[in-house]
Amino acid sequence: MKQSQLFTKTRKEAPADETSKNAELLTRGGFIHKEMAGVYSFLPLGLRVINKVENIIREEMDKIGGTEMRTSVLQNKEVWEKSGRWDDEVVDNWFKTKLKNGGDVGLSFTNEEAYSNILKQYVSSYKDLPIYPYDFKSIFRNETRSKSGIMRGREFYWKALYSFSKNEEEHNAFYEKAKVAYQNIFKRAGIGHLTYVTFASGGTFSKFSHEFQTITSVGEDTVYLDEASNVAINEEVYNDEVIAELKLKKENLIEKKAIEVGNIFSLGTKFSAPFDLKYKDENGEEKLVIMGSYGIGLGRLMGTVVEVLSDDKGIVWPESIAPFTIHLLALGDDEVVMKEANKVYESLSQAGVEVLFDDRSGMSAGEKFSDADLLGMPYRAVVSPRSIKEGGIELKKRTEEKGKIVSVDELLTLFKPI
Ligand code: ATP
Ligand code: MG
Repeated sequence: MKQSQLFTKTRKEAPADETSKNAELLTRGGFIHKEMAGVYSFLPLGLRVINKVENIIREEMDKIGGTEMRTSVLQNKEVWEKSGRWDDEVVDNWFKTKLKNGGDVGLSFTNEEAYSNILKQYVSSYKDLPIYPYDFKSIFRNETRSKSGIMRGREFYWKALYSFSKNEEEHNAFYEKAKVAYQNIFKRAGIGHLTYVTFASGGTFSKFSHEFQTITSVGEDTVYLDEASNVAINEEVYNDEVIAELKLKKENLIEKKAIEVGNIFSLGTKFSAPFDLKYKDENGEEKLVIMGSYGIGLGRLMGTVVEVLSDDKGIVWPESIAPFTIHLLALGDDEVVMKEANKVYESLSQAGVEVLFDDRSGMSAGEKFSDADLLGMPYRAVVSPRSIKEGGIELKKRTEEKGKIVSVDELLTLFKPI
């Protein structure tokens, strides 16, 4: 994409009302637009990141047997009354409204009831199970805290998968697979080295749920981390008994701030019971379905990447979720440079390499460099009178100080997708 066609512009100063680094940098870079506290629109560059995150998650969910669908945002009061979660005394962050011709509706704040209600129509025999439907969807929560930019939205985009299994054993086997899939997602998104499987509060049917917590001083959660065994305990369940168990040693556990980037949960029959979601086993005996839920916030993940990987010049995107792989800069408005840069852009684009081409005229090298640093593409390729004299294009990683000169052919060999 040519930058002259990108309507968003970078800005030097962060908006005064943003205190988090992710909102500051993403706003300055033109990735997001704040509609109100906790509500953001995703601009072209931001949407490209979200789409890449979405594809990574989709691939990992499909690998473990997930089937994608889409549940509605407007939710029926009667359905949620079955589980008792319509009541504001029970759930205090619903956005609700009334239909003109009577009746209440709520905007999805989670999905268990919607899935249980739909699956009730399709599950009747042991032959129908196990199943793992999931969706990507906008979720609405009337959050009181909303100072963490896109990491805590009142409207946010998430993936939620629900598992429907015949028994505990089948459920547990899938739960472990989901854990690995989640670790793969965070690894692929570039924050695997800072993200720990964390024991967190469970519910009626399981002692623990598991969170995926990314260690950073700006995190809202407190966890106790054991680096040797690669696990952490959320402070909400941290006590001597839990530690002894889990066979951990109390010194080894270091208090850290962290961001919950994902959460997986064993639900047992908590939702299948109120929805009467049963199947007939091989002997014709009726049994309740065993459920699990597996959530992940895409904006929260994107915001976390910005929080933990950026430097004092701007964002540093991992290649896997960067809006573009290469930021190509034409320096100086001289005709030879523009011609050569255009040639490089055309060759790379034709080869399927994702390039953002800074073809804007009337801008200094310094301005283009600082924009490239702020926007954070993994590679910067510069065409300038000097690079041409030296035989090509100056290629540099976002994280490197100095680049090297390469020819167009070398560039193509380095980046052409296999
Ligand atoms: P928190 O404790 O941070 O409020 P939660 O435990 O209520 O989160 P879940 O219901 O477990 O959140 O949702 C699953 C995932 O959705 C979370 O792990 C997180 O990645 C994401 N998420 C939750 N709330 C938000 C939010 N307000 N904005 C963005 N992402 C969110
Ligand atoms: Mg959670």
